[in-house]
Amino acid sequence: MFQIPDSLIVNFSISRQVYRQGLNYFSTGKIKSVRIQEDKPIIYGVVRDSQDYNVRIVFGEDGVFQSAECTCPVSSHYSGHCKHIVAVLLHLKWLKENNGFRSFEEKKAAREFFRYFPSSSSVIRTMSAPFCLYESGRTGHMSYVISVNS
Ligand SMILES: [Zn+2]
Repeated sequence: MFQIPDSLIVNFSISRQVYRQGLNYFSTGKIKSVRIQEDKPIIYGVVRDSQDYNVRIVFGEDGVFQSAECTCPVSSHYSGHCKHIVAVLLHLKWLKENNGFRSFEEKKAAREFFRYFPSSSSVIRTMSAPFCLYESGRTGHMSYVISVNS
């Protein structure tokens, strides 16, 4: 689904130190949530820091990385991945290696099915929490929560 080679994460980080900070953020559970847009391969991550920062990562239809942005001050001053982007990319890689996206695909299929039975839609919401709850995102597009750390 998404191609996330180590080179994409390491080589595009602002610096080695920033990469290591991102690795630390990933491994200490600073990822608050990760959502995927339903109709486009766009990822929205929320990372806990001194405040919550929003990361947006765009992939092409072929699954190849296109761009990443973050709302933190570092990201607006330097080119390359800030620690929050690194953390979300590492989380995506982890999800991919642990079949996190498979349940997303299954949930998507289930929602297609339940679309014909609107009164049953609440079933989907509780079926396999915390993975793959879906919600309307800030963008107005339907998106799926694929990962939550409470
Ligand atoms: Zn950032």
